[in-house]
Amino acid sequence: MSPSRSRSRSKELYERARLLIPGGVNSPVRAFRAVGIDPLFLASGRGSQVTDADGNRYIDYIGGWGPHILGHSHPAIQRAIREALKRGTSFGAATEAEIDLARLICDAIPSIEKVRLVNSGTEATMSAVRLARGFTGRSLLVKFIGCYHGHVDSLLVKAGSGVTTFALPESAGVPAEFTGLTLAVPFNNPDALREVFSAHGEKIAAVIVEPVVGNMGCVPPADGFLETLRELTSRAGAVLILDEVMTGFRLAYGGVQGSYGIRPDLTTLGKIIGGGLPVGAYGGRAEIMDTVAPEGPVYQAGTLSGNPLAVAAGIAALEELRRQPGLYAELDDRTEALGEGLAESARKAGVEVCVNRAGSMFTVFFTPGPVTDFDTASAADRDAFACYFQAMLERGVLLPPSQFEAAFVSAAHTDRDVERTLRAAKQAFKAVARRRKAKPGNRAG
Ligand SMILES: *Cc1c(COP(=O)(O)O)cnc(C)c1O
Repeated sequence: MSPSRSRSRSKELYERARLLIPGGVNSPVRAFRAVGIDPLFLASGRGSQVTDADGNRYIDYIGGWGPHILGHSHPAIQRAIREALKRGTSFGAATEAEIDLARLICDAIPSIEKVRLVNSGTEATMSAVRLARGFTGRSLLVKFIGCYHGHVDSLLVKAGSGVTTFALPESAGVPAEFTGLTLAVPFNNPDALREVFSAHGEKIAAVIVEPVVGNMGCVPPADGFLETLRELTSRAGAVLILDEVMTGFRLAYGGVQGSYGIRPDLTTLGKIIGGGLPVGAYGGRAEIMDTVAPEGPVYQAGTLSGNPLAVAAGIAALEELRRQPGLYAELDDRTEALGEGLAESARKAGVEVCVNRAGSMFTVFFTPGPVTDFDTASAADRDAFACYFQAMLERGVLLPPSQFEAAFVSAAHTDRDVERTLRAAKQAFKAVARRRKAKPGNRAG
């Protein structure tokens, strides 16, 4: 692999884009600012690899931020989209394929008795929260610090301040009155959860959680945490929403809820169920779902919801995953080997890291760890991560450009990809060690 790949065309596109699009990107994480470089413009992807606008190829661990569990440009998904395209792109009326996708989802996730399709994960969580409030007639919402549920006003809550505080808005433009109804508690902390329920139990409409967190980097739940959550919500009559937008069909065929034996009231989905096209979904107990319009009084709608191309892609993706029962075990093994290899090269280079992993999701945190919640994740050395990211990119490995994101392995990643990644990582950790020696003061605590 050639060191020092040119990114001149990406640079040129970025200059043009930033004049027309805020930051030059249509979603902030694509800006690569946290890793100190200009955004990479991608041109194509196939299998485990993507090619940028300058023609550089990378082994890709962004995976479209989750959807591409089968790899880029999967032939079955592409075929399904082409077939659907022949029949028309959008009707604004019901189509048979929507029943097929709903059936696949309900069969895979038993807690989902009825499901509504939307266009994104954000729409799914926004709608699930509204539904939970409409169903219970209550207002308060509990979320966990460091969990991300899309850019819904009431869910954009920063709560760096520990336990059970009424949070401040994290984003400008979200009035404090909106987030005043959101309580943020630390993840993996059953005592904080009990406190919030004993203080506000009968007013809590819903608790929303990423059952395996991906959005502060990969942070699995501690033993018993999800069970405690289920117990407290049931006792208080609050709706438990498992946000499986990232984890749904990622860690198992179905959701994390199947693996952990947790039955939520509502589940939100996205990413994989769209096969790389825009699809989200929320579903759960029929009794709750039947309060959605036109069956009930909770309004939620969408011009492009259940879009024929997106639904066709989603069906193809799920059918492909269902057809390959051994796929999840294989992904698990390959990602385990990768995670262990990364931890070992870091150790050999004298760089302390904590590698968290769940199935095919992983994060290398530049901190000794353990990383179990937002506070411990925040202890990671972001400068070290940026150095590691850049060194990997130079060697043809594209990671999510932030310390606080999960990387994804797909079924298209081969043992050879893993070997190449580990070879790059060996050099990248050495670069981190050299950098620390040169600038010892720069180490975050
Ligand atoms: C990605 C994600 C969302 C938001 O989905 P979008 O399609 O980006 O709106 C919500 N929840 C979780 C857990 C996610 O990972």
